[in-house]
Amino acid sequence: MIFIGKENVSGILDKGIKAAAVCESGETVVFETRDCYDDAVVSEERPLGDKDNPIENPATGPLYVKDALPGDVLKVEILDIQVRNWGVMRSSASCGVFHEDFSERTARIFQLENRELKDGKPAEVWFDDTLKLQLDPMIGVIGTAPAGDGITTDTPNSHGGNMDCRKIVTGTTLYLPVNVEGALLSMGDLHALMGDGEVLICGLETGGNVTVRVSVLKESGLKGVRIPTPFLNCRGDVMTIQSAGTLDEAGEMAAKAMKEFVKAAAKKDDLEAGMLMSLLSNMAVCQVVDPLKTVRMEFPLKVLEAYGYVLP
Ligand code: CA
Ligand code: CA
Repeated sequence: MIFIGKENVSGILDKGIKAAAVCESGETVVFETRDCYDDAVVSEERPLGDKDNPIENPATGPLYVKDALPGDVLKVEILDIQVRNWGVMRSSASCGVFHEDFSERTARIFQLENRELKDGKPAEVWFDDTLKLQLDPMIGVIGTAPAGDGITTDTPNSHGGNMDCRKIVTGTTLYLPVNVEGALLSMGDLHALMGDGEVLICGLETGGNVTVRVSVLKESGLKGVRIPTPFLNCRGDVMTIQSAGTLDEAGEMAAKAMKEFVKAAAKKDDLEAGMLMSLLSNMAVCQVVDPLKTVRMEFPLKVLEAYGYVLP
């Protein structure tokens, strides 16, 4: 199995970055990731961290996938997310919905328990002496290299990136665009737990190992139904994930992308696709705290399958 260690990190997804590893389509790869503070905030006494120039949201990679060419779709099956045994949250006086509440940075360290998923129970964290929370580890930053200028890992866009979609968890499949030869997949910014919005500015930030299987989907394999990337298959729903300057824009983009997909997959016209979405589709906020805001539109896959669609 290919392993990409967390010494291979960057704060930008860029086609000019040399590949850390090369794989065949269909291979399984492990990405070891740092936390979003570059593993530098290890003590509540030192909330600014222990590095002079930490990388913000370091992403591990990139992975070059053979035969991936611009126009293809990269299928990324999230086989496993193992988070380390501690996480960290930090306030910000400049970013996040509540930044005016804070005049300086404060850090909290949390110990994560049962991280080996013993007895099938999810890992847990004690928030304080009273409250124990179940973890739901997710990937905050995951994307391919854009075709043009690089995009820093604080920003989500059509290449993926800092989408902070809490639905990107173990057992789901993410579809990303291939913009450059080899796709150049990177990921990082794991959250042991996060709510929609990520309103403070962070999730329960942590590092760990992410195991994925990556496959190249060619146009011919899509059977005439374009997959509107970034696109997620999660726990029975498919989701378009779109980012824009405002939530309104991102929401409209996500809805319109899903409608085109429903039209093609279920062979419906605009009216019936719109009706089905108005009845069955849920719009949700991924995050409101990054340079672009992210919204997802969810639709039940079984409805599309009832019309004969098979998601590749
Ligand atoms: Ca993030
Ligand atoms: Ca984060």
